[in-house]
Amino acid sequence: MKCYWCEAPITRGNPNLTWLDEYESKDCEFHPYAFDILALKTTNQSAPHQTVAEVHEVIKKDYEVKQAQRFRQPLRAVEDNVVLLSRKASRTSRSAAEKILPRTGTLRRRVYEIILSAGLITDEELERQIGGKHQSISASRRSLVLDGYIVDSGQTRKNTVGNECILWTFKDEELTLFNDVR
Ligand SMILES: [Zn+2]
Repeated sequence: MKCYWCEAPITRGNPNLTWLDEYESKDCEFHPYAFDILALKTTNQSAPHQTVAEVHEVIKKDYEVKQAQRFRQPLRAVEDNVVLLSRKASRTSRSAAEKILPRTGTLRRRVYEIILSAGLITDEELERQIGGKHQSISASRRSLVLDGYIVDSGQTRKNTVGNECILWTFKDEELTLFNDVR
């Protein structure tokens, strides 16, 4: 193998180890992180030797993250387990959250599917359809909003006690995917 940056021959014992050059060094002096090519001097940072496949993988990952941010596509899947927790959450709510975490993905999926088929729905109607705890259902709905799957439709509907409630709807995938494409 050859390092993409310094072109030195590199080897490693197994895929979990770092690459070593002929001098048994793991530091690549020509990696852009270690060497400023415009100033032609070292940055005093250390960077690993990398193969062309690894460089490709880094660029691909970076591109995917940027695309996801650009199109506001969620990085999490609907059925991922998510628990929203404030930074100031107490120890008891933290451990309660840890307990429900493995089941939240299933609930997120249910909530999402109900919103998909209803088109427009309030939190109260969601709770009535699912028949679970108010907190966990609204937390699932909230996490889906944060991930960009669900949006405020801008419309409201009165609940059983006569208050106007937000009607949630799903995000138009087509618009999200093809916005901004040149
Ligand atoms: Zn190198």
